[in-house]
Amino acid sequence: MPLRFTDTMAREKREFTPADPKRVTMYACGPTVYSYAHIGNARPAVAFDVLFRLLRRTYGEGAVVYARNLTDIDDKIIAASKETGEDWRAITERFAQIYRDDTAALNVLPVTHEPLATAHIPDMVALIGRLIESGHAYAAEGHVLFSVTAFDGYGGLSRRNRDDMIAGARVEVAPYKKDPADFVLWKPAKPGEPAWDSPWGQGRPGWHLECSAMIETVLGETIDIHAGGQDLIFPHHENEIAQSCCAHGGAPLARVWLHNGFLSMDAEKMSKSLGNVKLVHELLEHWDGEVLRWALLSAHYRQPLDWTDALLEQSRTALDRAYTALRRLKDVTPAGGVTADGVIAALEDDLNTPQAFAEFAALVGAANTASGDEMAAAKARLLDAGAALGLLQRDAEAWFTGGDGDGPAAEEIEALIQKRKDARAAKDFAEADRIRDDLADKGVILEDGPGGTSWKRA
Ligand code: AMP
Ligand code: ZN
Repeated sequence: MPLRFTDTMAREKREFTPADPKRVTMYACGPTVYSYAHIGNARPAVAFDVLFRLLRRTYGEGAVVYARNLTDIDDKIIAASKETGEDWRAITERFAQIYRDDTAALNVLPVTHEPLATAHIPDMVALIGRLIESGHAYAAEGHVLFSVTAFDGYGGLSRRNRDDMIAGARVEVAPYKKDPADFVLWKPAKPGEPAWDSPWGQGRPGWHLECSAMIETVLGETIDIHAGGQDLIFPHHENEIAQSCCAHGGAPLARVWLHNGFLSMDAEKMSKSLGNVKLVHELLEHWDGEVLRWALLSAHYRQPLDWTDALLEQSRTALDRAYTALRRLKDVTPAGGVTADGVIAALEDDLNTPQAFAEFAALVGAANTASGDEMAAAKARLLDAGAALGLLQRDAEAWFTGGDGDGPAAEEIEALIQKRKDARAAKDFAEADRIRDDLADKGVILEDGPGGTSWKRA
């Protein structure tokens, strides 16, 4: 089936055809790395990871080039550095690594390119220079501004009228602006702030400009897919389009625009400024990364998603069922050439993950009842569905005995259970009880039954 995506620019679902199926390009705006990611921030990373997996499956693993930047210079980073006294580079390096670790725990594949804004300043300066030359930008009082009246297509993505745009951008109507809607491409540094040389003095690039320059350098002039959160449509993506189109003689920035909806808690958008956030690294202390991923994918990426404990419980139950089926088939070799067609068809239809989960549940049911020759195909289908969704990446046995958290490893526990058995056989009951209590202190509970001793984590 052809891929179909809802394109924000076209306002409708359309068949997707890349310009070159041998090099399919996608870009997602990445995080500003000055603090921990909350689970709302993880939603675009996970949703567009499903997209990345689908494109790789469709066009070939080596044919898809996915870039997601890290914004490592910004007012918020400078403010964090001033507040804590920590060097701004130390802050951004630390939180960049935390972001990589958090997303990896959610089975988000590494992207092909992870450009750092500060590694592309010369590209940004060059892009601004071209925009000035072509009459789309002007320098004023150490700033460089983009002149929105010089671009007819301005507002095309967000379909806002001019007054809405001026209000929505909340841009300071500074005296050096020719038009109140003009936005900054380069801004001067205050004394002591990080700064780079430019023809307009020491300063740093504007956020929108960073993405345009990195896309141009890493991916090219017109990319196949540009993705991000709905809050980025205006002004961020509108401004990226203005800059890139004008620098490229009118060539579009992206053929398709995808935007994810917000994650909310108690009907309010999860956001740092409201303070109603659940941090990914904290959630991971209590929940497996796959449970968080399941919960994030349970709603369609364009729809809002309300984050609740009940959602997490349901997600864990669904995964427990799937891993129970896999554990049942642990000695079965999966059949070759069998694919999860229903799940894939759902994803090909605008990444319809709720529909994919319904198909997935049917595969789990089939794997739980399969017998004889059906078992190999049932296991293959379930694993293929898991690969497409980025789930079932764990060993089924380890899923239930949890080998990755705190506490002793499974082998160590098994060895202690054997030692306890030996102690009991030698009638050293004090030693046997000591081993049991010792494991209990470490959160491992032993259960003696007719078939021997089994264990679980408390
Ligand atoms: P911020 O830290 O607010 O700049 O957000 C970083 C990224 O996370 C952006 O792509 C946002 O679109 C996205 N994002 C922030 N909050 C949410 C949320 N509550 N739900 C979904 N995406 C979000
Ligand atoms: Zn961007």
